[in-house]
Amino acid sequence: MSSSHPLPIEVLSQGRAAVFEEPAGPSGVRIRERPTTRPKQGHVAVEIRAASINHLDLWLAHGAQKIPPPRVICADGAGVVRESADPRWRAGAEVVIFPTLCCWECEQCRAGENVYCERFGVLGEHADGTACELVHVDGRSVFPKPSGLSWAESAAFPLTFLTAWRMLVTRARLQPDETVLVIGAGAGVAVAAIAIARHIGARVLATSRSEAKRKRAMELGAEAAFDSAGFSKPVRGLTGDGVDVVFEHVGAATIGESMRSLAMGGRIVTCGSTSGVNAEVSMPRLFFRHASLIGSTMGNAAEFEAVLKAIDRGMRPVVDAVYPLNDVQAALTRLDTAEQFGKVVLSVSA
Ligand SMILES: [Zn+2]
Repeated sequence: MSSSHPLPIEVLSQGRAAVFEEPAGPSGVRIRERPTTRPKQGHVAVEIRAASINHLDLWLAHGAQKIPPPRVICADGAGVVRESADPRWRAGAEVVIFPTLCCWECEQCRAGENVYCERFGVLGEHADGTACELVHVDGRSVFPKPSGLSWAESAAFPLTFLTAWRMLVTRARLQPDETVLVIGAGAGVAVAAIAIARHIGARVLATSRSEAKRKRAMELGAEAAFDSAGFSKPVRGLTGDGVDVVFEHVGAATIGESMRSLAMGGRIVTCGSTSGVNAEVSMPRLFFRHASLIGSTMGNAAEFEAVLKAIDRGMRPVVDAVYPLNDVQAALTRLDTAEQFGKVVLSVSA
């Protein structure tokens, strides 16, 4: 294996685009016009109809990701193939974009482990992203758009559902007769987790600081939703021994309560640390209770296809709000103030 820095995956984001230009928060992301070109061999040019914002974009905008500007933001995109230099795709095809960046050629990629690729990255973070009129990506990174979803919904699910699917299904192996506790239920990835867990048939509990979001979580199928402060007590009160799986993305602020909410042999699966990168874990609680602490990030192409199949069977994302691309700063601000429930979408063209 080469020890030199692998080349980043090439993605061209063109036309009118939302570009991170300086680490100033939402105001550091500005609309710019980029030249358009024709796709190179193996790539497709996708006219983006809708893109969606993740917390990642906000961290990028605040300078927390240490990504040098300029960068076109957003990992999620859905649109129409304008031109294809990949024989698998034809102009006019309606597609969604796989948000994991990978080389598709290495041993890991050939084994289906795109997340272990040496050139692994996230679209819109490690390469330019989907918040633009035209994006050139590898033909292997596009999949047919689910016919039952609107453009906004098609842009709302890729990163969060891919991430949550790998966490719950592949990593934590959530079973239909088990109970999962979803932390911070308003976040896009948590809303995806509720939908996926309900799709599997598992019992869902949730937490949120906001009463309105707790109510929404229950409308989505959570049996109960608790305030974020001291949730382990009511969780244990309801379940007896605790839950089988805790779905985490908050980290430092909640990991203690998450550990206390686990049943014997339970699993915590996490994809984030929004409340700080270092967290304290009670080691005796981990080993005496045979608990597992599991990390996960993004997902593989096969997991993305499993999400698409589940959507065909009725699983749905939640769109919080749709903003025109030109209002990207307002869209980022909505996430910055944690008002959203589900996904904030950018509408790019009709
Ligand atoms: Zn690879």
